Amino acid sequence: MPFTSEEDCIRYIIDVRWPDGYFCDNCKNSEYWILSRKRLKCKKCGTIITLTSNTAFEQSNKSLVLWFHAIRLIITSDKSINASDLQKTLGLGSYKTALTWYHKLTSLIIPPVIERLNGAEETDEIFFPLKEKEGNEHSQVNYIKIPENYDSIFRQVIKHALNYNQKQI
Ligand SMILES: [Zn+2]
Repeated sequence: MPFTSEEDCIRYIIDVRWPDGYFCDNCKNSEYWILSRKRLKCKKCGTIITLTSNTAFEQSNKSLVLWFHAIRLIITSDKSINASDLQKTLGLGSYKTALTWYHKLTSLIIPPVIERLNGAEETDEIFFPLKEKEGNEHSQVNYIKIPENYDSIFRQVIKHALNYNQKQI
């Protein structure tokens, strides 16, 4: 899962949003150009959409590469991660931003991991690296995580992020 450029992330988002291939909402055409600022333009009718509209990434001016990196960091970490770890590792400017990311990422990542639990073997239990939020800062959430399914969990997280309701925050 190498996401080294915005285009890598954009192509991944397109693949998650349109598993059978992109099509324009307006004319159903399947060809597009990738524009700046996370936008796509239909090659036929010229309709432009912003890929991050109504998603968890909507109100962020940070790159998708950084968001993808943060998600990957958390789901593959084998130790506890808190907001200041995120701030340091991602080079975020302020603790306040890091805390916002932390809460958002918690709400994005926990549901797919819980979903994964249902199909997991009991013996696969390992540490889930995000702490509980809201008054339980010191207690740990222990979930089952299956290393070989990182890609699958990552995809679920991105899917969840694309359907994210901003009112959740
Ligand atoms: Zn079109």
